Amino acid sequence: MNLPASDVELLPENEKIEDGKERGHTFHCELYDTEIVRKIGQVFLPGLSSACVDNTTGDMFRSPGSVAVDVRKEMIDYLTQRSESFVAESVVLEGGPDAAVSDHPYDIISAMVDDFASLKRSLFGRVSGWLLSEKREDKIDDFMQEMETNGFWLLEKREAIAQILVKNVDYKNIFHCDKKFNTAEELAEHVVNCGFRTMNCTNEGCITVFCASQLEKHDSACPFKIIPCEQQCSENIMRREMDRHCITVCPMKIVNCPFYAVGCHSTVPQCMVQQHRSDNLHSHLLNTLKGIHNGASEEDLKRRVDQIVELSSGQLADDRDVRCLILKVKDLEAKLGPLEVKAAETFGEESNKAGDNGGEESIEAGNKGGDESTEVAKKGGEKSTGETSVEDKIGSEKSTEIINRVGEEFSSIQV
Ligand SMILES: [Zn+2]
Ligand SMILES: [Zn+2]
Ligand SMILES: [Zn+2]
Ligand SMILES: [Zn+2]
Repeated sequence: MNLPASDVELLPENEKIEDGKERGHTFHCELYDTEIVRKIGQVFLPGLSSACVDNTTGDMFRSPGSVAVDVRKEMIDYLTQRSESFVAESVVLEGGPDAAVSDHPYDIISAMVDDFASLKRSLFGRVSGWLLSEKREDKIDDFMQEMETNGFWLLEKREAIAQILVKNVDYKNIFHCDKKFNTAEELAEHVVNCGFRTMNCTNEGCITVFCASQLEKHDSACPFKIIPCEQQCSENIMRREMDRHCITVCPMKIVNCPFYAVGCHSTVPQCMVQQHRSDNLHSHLLNTLKGIHNGASEEDLKRRVDQIVELSSGQLADDRDVRCLILKVKDLEAKLGPLEVKAAETFGEESNKAGDNGGEESIEAGNKGGDESTEVAKKGGEKSTGETSVEDKIGSEKSTEIINRVGEEFSSIQV
């Protein structure tokens, strides 16, 4: 590669002469939006690379590197001239068919870079097949890499040019300061307060540099800023950690009740789960018993719940999940003996009704769920359908078997 050292003078001719602080009898503030200038400085290298590659494609005697110095000079002159006449041209165009064109310096100058690159295409480079080929993209990337490695056109030099171009096209003075002063003292006084003076972000870990006028905008989006939890827990979290915090450890994260699988579809903040468990112990137990004594009447089961709660002397409220609860209930039920059922005359009717309800409810629970518990609930529902005889199960071996099965199936469910 025959790229020269990068310390050649790259500023356009007229700017070199004028580039003093003093122009006539006024003192100009030279500050500008560093972010935009940097962004524009970054489009020069890919632009130059594609201009050099397309210019030499199909010519076996010339490499992109052999034309880089000349093309770079042409590119700087082209951009300078276009930017200088930009304001006059856009005044003519204002209100015309092109009035909708963006007036953002980045868009304006990127488009100029693209225009330049397309002007430099060789005859072969103009063939549409080549322009769309992957090989072209690779070559442009490779050459850009080569220029970067060789320090052919340093960012700081590109930024110096970008700065001039921004001043030329930014006629609304949004991205550079155009203030003029009569004395150097006045200028110095202005510079320390100028909205375009650079500032460093003070949030720990952030290395962003921005214009003073952008401070608020950056601060409101800085990923390193420590802010209160979005879900209003008591913690302060770094903005970039917020999403993770909110869906993992945040005490205010909304979770399903741990007894979702047995039919409680409540959602609560995870810090309130324990409270919810003790507040709803009766209904959680009732739901659990429905799964075990499929077909038993609601009334019989409610009575059973009371017996179990009484016998448990408060220890059931600590159960964290379905598995723990089922194991304890199984234990307590063994002590209580067979489930007592109501008088015989209403028994048949009620148990059928309970059976239907139980079946429907567990199928419904299965449909609503979307996880492992769905399968469990569904299995329970399917297996229970048709089993309407309470007597068959109560106190029999089958009951133990069901308790074991449900226990095993739920054992994989964690809180
Ligand atoms: Zn200023
Ligand atoms: Zn920051
Ligand atoms: Zn939180
Ligand atoms: Zn619940």
